Amino acid sequence: MTSAKHTAVFISGATGFIAQHTISQLLAKGYKVVGSVRSTEKGEELVKIFDNSNFSYEVIPILEKEGAFDEALKKNSSVTVFLHTASPVTVTVEDNEKDIIIPALQGTKFVLKSIKEHAPQITRVVYTSSVVATGTPAQIADPEYKGGEHTWSSLTYEQSKENGYNAYFGSKKLAEQAAWDFVEQEKPNFTLSTINPSYVFGPQNAAPKTKELNFSASIITSVLNATDSVPELSGTFIDVRDIAKAHILAFETDQAQGKRFIVANSLFNGQTLLDIIRGNFPQLKDKLPVGKPGVSLSGPSRYNDKNARSILAIDYISLEKSVVDSVKQIIDL
Ligand code: NAP
Repeated sequence: MTSAKHTAVFISGATGFIAQHTISQLLAKGYKVVGSVRSTEKGEELVKIFDNSNFSYEVIPILEKEGAFDEALKKNSSVTVFLHTASPVTVTVEDNEKDIIIPALQGTKFVLKSIKEHAPQITRVVYTSSVVATGTPAQIADPEYKGGEHTWSSLTYEQSKENGYNAYFGSKKLAEQAAWDFVEQEKPNFTLSTINPSYVFGPQNAAPKTKELNFSASIITSVLNATDSVPELSGTFIDVRDIAKAHILAFETDQAQGKRFIVANSLFNGQTLLDIIRGNFPQLKDKLPVGKPGVSLSGPSRYNDKNARSILAIDYISLEKSVVDSVKQIIDL
């Protein structure tokens, strides 16, 4: 069921891994959804995937152009919620500033300006940030780091240009901070909340047609491709279906307004992923390294995620289900 206050939602980056699950859940709840895409071809592909008259799309080829969203917002005047998920999710580009930092940062500033100027009926904005906005690459990689809702990465704009990792980490911090600054300085009609996911695992919303899987799926693929040794991976995971739910709860819940939500379930490492895959897929058991099975990493996220646990209070999908569902889809490919 839609919320009492909102019936139509705009979502940027509708082709994305997280966005597609969010759109599916919104449509299942009866919301009308308008998604922005970079080409008609991508929009038509989504129309086929969702097969629902409540879904439509707008082509917005360049995110970081001032006024890019103006016409789409004016045309869709029943929309009262905007979910801004579009952002470059990569660490390998030709030009870190032009290809990652500018679309993320300017894209966010301009989209908020467009909403304020051309869609005053929009009262809720949810920005998809990341745990990487809460610490530097070194801090996020440190298992002892206890950052979260209360912390910010210290990466500056200049440092963010230095390499691909800094560019992605910095782009999320700079864009999220710009969004909070916009609300404070411009006093728009909307309230802001941010969803800051950890590593997002889980299946794609629609079975992928190519082997070009997204960044998160590539972590699972790297375990599936391991031959001799246990892959050196560790972090905190969350399932994509829970991230989609978090975006919806963030605008439906009054108490969620003005808050940052670190949405992160539990810890994983190369060994736990291997154990799950070897335990659930007998056909892969003998192909994968054994390592030292049985290490338990079932503890909660190492981040400060009190807002998400208490306000969104999602009953998170387990690591085992998330990995098994992802692997089934990858095997089908
Ligand atoms: P994704 O599948 O790569 O989706 C990214 C979306 O952004 C796509 O719709 C893409 O459009 C669009 N996009 C990328 N660069 C763009 C640009 N320069 N101009 C316009 N649109 C652009 O990634 P995702 O995992 O769903 O990520 C969605 C959001 O979640 C991002 O803001 C990301 O930072 C955040 N996040 C993701 C994770 C994770 O582990 N996946 C973790 C934390 C935060 P095209 O399809 O046209 O390329």
